[in-house]
Amino acid sequence: MLSNHKQLFTLKNIRFILLALATILVASCAPEKKEPHAQNVIYLIGDGMGFGAVSSLLLSQDSLTGFEKAPVIGLSETQSANNHVTDSPAGGSALACGTRVKNGVLGLDPVDSTHLTSILEKAQVMGKKTGIVVNTTLTEATPAAFYANVKSRSMSYEIARQFTESGVDVAIGAGLSAFINRPDSLDLTRVLIEEKGYDVYLDWKSVLNSTSEKFVGILSMGDVHRRNKPTTAKPGAAAGDEVCLAAKLAADAADQADTTIFSEPDLYLEKATAKALTALEKNAPNGFFLMIESAIIDGYGHNNDSDGMIEEMQEFDRTLQMLVQYVNAHPGTLLVVTADHETGGTGVGYKGHKVGEKADVSLTFSTKGHTGTVVPIFAYGEGAEKFSGIMKNRDVPGKIEALIK
Ligand SMILES: [Zn+2]
Repeated sequence: MLSNHKQLFTLKNIRFILLALATILVASCAPEKKEPHAQNVIYLIGDGMGFGAVSSLLLSQDSLTGFEKAPVIGLSETQSANNHVTDSPAGGSALACGTRVKNGVLGLDPVDSTHLTSILEKAQVMGKKTGIVVNTTLTEATPAAFYANVKSRSMSYEIARQFTESGVDVAIGAGLSAFINRPDSLDLTRVLIEEKGYDVYLDWKSVLNSTSEKFVGILSMGDVHRRNKPTTAKPGAAAGDEVCLAAKLAADAADQADTTIFSEPDLYLEKATAKALTALEKNAPNGFFLMIESAIIDGYGHNNDSDGMIEEMQEFDRTLQMLVQYVNAHPGTLLVVTADHETGGTGVGYKGHKVGEKADVSLTFSTKGHTGTVVPIFAYGEGAEKFSGIMKNRDVPGKIEALIK
């Protein structure tokens, strides 16, 4: 009897030990939960792209948009250091540098005016290649927030000079004038080529044909933005509102003479982005950081131009769809899509159109300026989950930095 008990006890012991061993084995074999780490970052900013703009795209398109493919969605409060309603320099600075600056200012601390460091510059220190693609001038507020530190967005000559010092590997946009028609008589395209080792292209075809890994494309506005439908709305904001270059560009585009031999403004943003990606991913053992701005959404908001904004969002979506595909095909890449602020106080107006008549979607506007409403954030790929919830605009670059460290 005793021996039976002993046997039973021993068997129980063995079973317990085996179970414990199995548990330890399973635990040791289970993959450790790894913190996400992004090798590459793509930061796509829609200037003035609020919920009205995104809604107009969703309602006017039957097929799945790039926005709807986002696994993670968040919200961003967009105010500046001194106003609930930000302008583009302050909005761009918060998204680039992680600090809210005063309206009108680019990359200067609001308290002591020290130079702020952007996430693009931090990525460079980490050994990443960097790029900028915009469908406005390279010296406009949003791209400039990533490489310039000046007290006013209007200092385009100084911004262009700081661009030549930025070390950005690839940049494509417009705005030759700030580089060559300068009060100091400097030719900054020459500086870029002779002192900084860039290939510089002044036409779209040369950009497309380039095999260079270090180049700047400084194109005409006709190259970087499609001809708009003629707009009856006059550019510019009401007195006291921000004066936006983008608004002027949106209105001027229809009148601009075609000075280029070969131009694809409808496809520019998508193709320029693809071109930048091709150049950046070559010889990039530490990955890359690419900032892209779709700038003219803001202009249509200022102009209260519903059709223009919807077309602009459709163009934005073509670029976004391409980027979503890129992220899916390149593990370790993070894509963050957001806006610096909302423009126009946009809503979707009821015009009696029925479901199915998607082309009839129209936007209503409540202002010709910016608004302080929150804007959406869409995140894809490596570390996307870090961008869920409500955050401040200044939090976004810190989250990116944490993922690329
Ligand atoms: Zn604006």
